[in-house]
Amino acid sequence: MTVVNRQKVLVIDDERINLKIISDILREDADVVLAISGEQGIRKAIEYKPDLILLDVLMPGLDGYETMNRLRHDVRTSTIPVIFITALDDASHEEKALLMGACDYIQKPLNHNIVQARVRLHLQLTKQRKLLEQLANIDPLTALANRRRYEEFIVREWQTAIQHNECLSLLVLDIDNFKQYNDCYGHATGDKVLKRVATVLAGQIKPGEGLVARYGGEEFVVVLPRFSQQEAERIAKKCMLDIEELNLSYSHQGQTGQVTVSVGGVCVSPLVGDLVEDFFDKADSKLVEAKNSGKNKILWFHSHELDISVK
Ligand code: GH3
Ligand code: MG
Ligand code: MG
Repeated sequence: MTVVNRQKVLVIDDERINLKIISDILREDADVVLAISGEQGIRKAIEYKPDLILLDVLMPGLDGYETMNRLRHDVRTSTIPVIFITALDDASHEEKALLMGACDYIQKPLNHNIVQARVRLHLQLTKQRKLLEQLANIDPLTALANRRRYEEFIVREWQTAIQHNECLSLLVLDIDNFKQYNDCYGHATGDKVLKRVATVLAGQIKPGEGLVARYGGEEFVVVLPRFSQQEAERIAKKCMLDIEELNLSYSHQGQTGQVTVSVGGVCVSPLVGDLVEDFFDKADSKLVEAKNSGKNKILWFHSHELDISVK
């Protein structure tokens, strides 16, 4: 059975009768979450991550504009589309809402069919936007994050580490002698190995703990925010062991071998002015060293080699 993920709409209105009317209109198309005030709406937006918010303008306490303002300034809610709903029929209010970033504006009294049609349209647009975001960030072969997503992630984590004076670890892994494996079994079987290695790597960290990405070809990265060198080394060793345990052997032109990886690692507590590009280069240079000194090993960047501080 295919499970269809229903989209979620959050409705924020101070009048219960309006919440009832709107949820009756939307129930067919989405799961509806209700909030009776701006404050509650913001909390529920963070908790439920809705696909769309319908926001009443006139409310005691935080009015619609202030609620919108706060939603836009919180990274957890800043990209959720918002439709304003109001009894105010002055064009300046509509203009203000649109200039604040509202995606639409619906007038009260509510017309069932118009509300339904507009919400359907915006839910459709949200679905398409999310799909595009996914396609732009995911490696189609392995379903891991792609290099684009990695670049975004590492820059954000680098800034967070500077701000909070925390450490950040990075592993760069590359499959050893993968050309030989491809030459032995063909590209299609090589692709299957990439998928299996990706699954092993993805299984090493819990969701939200860090990011595993395919950097390109047969090279992967594991970003481990707040992981000390010791903790990151433990992950790296487990990656190597689990990949070895896949037992993927090959034999090509008299040379036999098994799929293994080489790893370069680095752990730093970056300071203002330190460059994230240097961070990657440190781990990558260790990967090159590991390759040049026999492969199937982890080499770690040490403090005396760094021009950025190490934990
Ligand atoms: P090293 O131990 O030095 O890393 O040797 P290597 O053979 O792994 O590295 P090299 O850079 O010589 O070759 C990389 C190989 O990885 C060759 C290339 O065809 C293969 N490769 C890269 N991307 C893919 C892919 O998407 N699918 C498959 N099947 N192979 C790939
Ligand atoms: Mg109201
Ligand atoms: Mg390789």
